[in-house]
Amino acid sequence: MTPPTALTIAGSDSGGGAGIQADLRTFFAHGVHGLVALTAVTVQNSLGVQGFTEIPADVVTAQIKAVASDMGVNAAKTGMLATAEIIRAVAKTLDEVEVGPLVVDPVAASMTGHALLREDALEAIRTELFPRATLITPNLDEVGLLTGISVSDPASQRAAAEALLEFGSRWVLVKGGHMTGSTCVDLLTDGREYVSLSGPRFETDNTHGGGDTMASAITSSLAKGASVPDAVAAGKKFIERCVAESYPLGAGVGPVSPFWVLPDRR
Ligand code: PLP
Repeated sequence: MTPPTALTIAGSDSGGGAGIQADLRTFFAHGVHGLVALTAVTVQNSLGVQGFTEIPADVVTAQIKAVASDMGVNAAKTGMLATAEIIRAVAKTLDEVEVGPLVVDPVAASMTGHALLREDALEAIRTELFPRATLITPNLDEVGLLTGISVSDPASQRAAAEALLEFGSRWVLVKGGHMTGSTCVDLLTDGREYVSLSGPRFETDNTHGGGDTMASAITSSLAKGASVPDAVAAGKKFIERCVAESYPLGAGVGPVSPFWVLPDRR
């Protein structure tokens, strides 16, 4: 039987822990066939991003059109989009083809602080992509860049979510992973429903690819027809396990791992 399909519009991580590599392994772990529109090739390892080269915007959109016109896309997500030109081209293409629910992960920088977006591009994400998104999934650094709000408690998290909704997405998930405390509380809202998702914080430094993995887990559930609240709840459970089972690799930050889904790893 043909499985559901999900499209990732994102960059490659040579270290295999984030970007399209994280998306594809997450789609696989959900029994979802992954499709790819590559936006950039990054050069990176566990110590950080050494640089990137973007793919020409017309090649990015041609990839989207090729798969959407032939194979069908049940849900899509965007990750690293690299430039304002690519963002504008992707936004236009998403109006022309059918990709189902769209998750926009507004990737701006790596956790090691390296820019993954050219400077003018954040504004393009806000104005061009957010209005087309079913769900946006910023972390607290990205929330700060997008709204100027520094989230430190539930009240500022809610204020940030409401400010982000103004940009036009249907749902906003403000991830609380970078707040302190023994629990990790994410807030999901569409302006009517407010869902607070609480989970344990794990003691590990190996969290590379965590944001991508959570967004692609949510996208996988949307591809299977789940509602946004159900997809986000399942995505949170999935990423918790991936963080709990993350592993060291290289001298720096190791990746979160979806290998726990495999029946026999010996
Ligand atoms: N590289 C690519 C291609 C990414 O898309 C991302 C995040 O989306 C990263 C690196 C950064 O990952 P992290 O911040 O988890 O290290």
